[in-house]
Amino acid sequence: MGVQTATGLIETDALGFTLMHEHVFTSTPGLKEAYPQIFDRAAVIDQIVGYLTDAKEHGVSTVVEPTPFDMGRDVEIVAEASRRSGVNVVVSTGFFDVPKYFLATKSVDEAVDILERDIVEGVGHSGIRVGMIKARIEESLNGEYEYALRVCARLQRRSGLPVTVHTSSSPHRTGELACSVFEEEGVDPGRVVIGHAGDSTNLQYLHGILDRGFVIGMDRFGLGTLLSIDERVGVVASLCEEGYAGQMILSHDCPCYAEILTPEVFASIGGGESWKLTTVPEVVLPALRAAGVADKAIDEMTREVPARLLDREARSGSRLRGESVTAGGRNVVADELAIRNLISGLAQLADDGEVEEYAELVEEGAVIDTGNSQRRGRAQILEVARDRVKSGMSGRGTSRHVVTTTTVRVVDDTSATARSYFLFIRDTTTNPTVQYVGRYHDEFRYADGSWRLARRKVHVG
Ligand SMILES: [Zn+2]
Repeated sequence: MGVQTATGLIETDALGFTLMHEHVFTSTPGLKEAYPQIFDRAAVIDQIVGYLTDAKEHGVSTVVEPTPFDMGRDVEIVAEASRRSGVNVVVSTGFFDVPKYFLATKSVDEAVDILERDIVEGVGHSGIRVGMIKARIEESLNGEYEYALRVCARLQRRSGLPVTVHTSSSPHRTGELACSVFEEEGVDPGRVVIGHAGDSTNLQYLHGILDRGFVIGMDRFGLGTLLSIDERVGVVASLCEEGYAGQMILSHDCPCYAEILTPEVFASIGGGESWKLTTVPEVVLPALRAAGVADKAIDEMTREVPARLLDREARSGSRLRGESVTAGGRNVVADELAIRNLISGLAQLADDGEVEEYAELVEEGAVIDTGNSQRRGRAQILEVARDRVKSGMSGRGTSRHVVTTTTVRVVDDTSATARSYFLFIRDTTTNPTVQYVGRYHDEFRYADGSWRLARRKVHVG
């Protein structure tokens, strides 16, 4: 249990009333670093603290900030405003405008490796880790949006973090295209918010997404150009009546600070009096109650669904529904035990110098990535393992991989992930010395009757 916020890990129970989509700080990437004279940091933070404090006074306890680095993310400003206001803020990785650097030079998997650092090590040199993934699709699934969606889908599967997708629901219905990419990538739909779905009043479109298991973002209350608050409330109320409160979140998509938002621009994009962080608690919830929505449904949309999404250890959909059998009919507990044995088996066989048996436990195309080096494919993994035994680095009487504190997540029938701590101890019979302490982030695949390691990322420290 636990949720990663900009100011540290908190208990999931401490999230409270949560707005799942608000922009705390957005900017032109690199602008304030290049021209500090046009940026008044203290005034900007004061402005943000004003918005957040107002929200807190209306009962908001947590805000999710879906702003990746290509929207000028600044997690240190966000963390400071969070501390001063007392509102928890969850920060994000992912893409809004995919930089050409990625499209021109990095495959989807290489981009996943790069962005994963925000989740594991923290953003830049801040040590602040993200707790949300953001993707975007506008009017069609072009190359850039497909790239962003696939990167975010794979980051989701690797990390377990939730995703929110900016979509153009009306009239383009691109939430449906986003759903298809996530399904193709094997992502649990219960971990994905199809954002800005609340811009649509087309119930048939919304039912389609909900019935595929996704969460929908009714997340632009107060942004007046597309729909009025009343129209948005009407859609939420009728979906609640149909029993969908457990798959909706409420928010505003409101920018607390963005340097382009002069009052004139703010008004021109539909920001009126009501585009602020208090419209949901002050206006929307009373309107929903007046429309017959029960308090239980309101709690689901504002507390329970956010907690389920943001919890780092949240299990796949099948687990959440308490099922112990996968779609393919295997027992999830048996799968988890098999994977734990596999992790231990890899360590023991490496330490016994049984390199052929060790290599049998990794799949044909497996990758072991230590940060400094990559072993790609079973043949290369075997070759390196042989070299390590030959050089006395590992093998009988010289090494111990002590792997502990493992969590396993069976994602579906054929894939699972695990995280473990490890100690690598050298010279075990003469002068035992801990050479490395670190973490394994593993991915496993099930094929031909057994689980094998598909990918191991080794993080030192
Ligand atoms: Zn947004």
